Amino acid sequence: MTQPNAAAPLTSIELAHLRRCVDLAREALDAGDEPFGSLLVDATGAVRFEDRNRVAGGDQTRHPEFEIARWAATNLSPDERAASTVYTSGEHCPMCSAAHAWVGLGRIVYAASGAQLGAWLAEWGIPAGPVAALSIREVAPGIEVAGPAPDFADELRSLHARLHGVV
Ligand code: ZN
Repeated sequence: MTQPNAAAPLTSIELAHLRRCVDLAREALDAGDEPFGSLLVDATGAVRFEDRNRVAGGDQTRHPEFEIARWAATNLSPDERAASTVYTSGEHCPMCSAAHAWVGLGRIVYAASGAQLGAWLAEWGIPAGPVAALSIREVAPGIEVAGPAPDFADELRSLHARLHGVV
């Protein structure tokens, strides 16, 4: 599973982008969806696209990281994609890791790891989903990854607890 990144700690700018991702996750939950949110930041530091989970309508592929990959493929050149960073409240699932790699996006910074989310769900007795819980590094080993960000762990845990009716 994913190991905590031993590299430099996240900068205040990176933490601010993750803060926005967590706010989008909360917005998703408040709208009856699953609490995940993500941003695409270009090489100049500008936020170019953001989204949150939209699976409540019945399409379980409507993850924000997948929407980012599709938006980037349509709107950014290959060089712009490679120089972009995707920030996300929860580590990419295998589908989104693959989409991210296939469209040639750059670095990923996540707040909570897939391993953390998996441990929370196991603790609450929530059955595993239909897709293997592979880390980004396992699915897309060429992508530079940073995370988790411990500052957001308690908040994200509580959002996911609310989703699953755990109080
Ligand atoms: Zn996903």
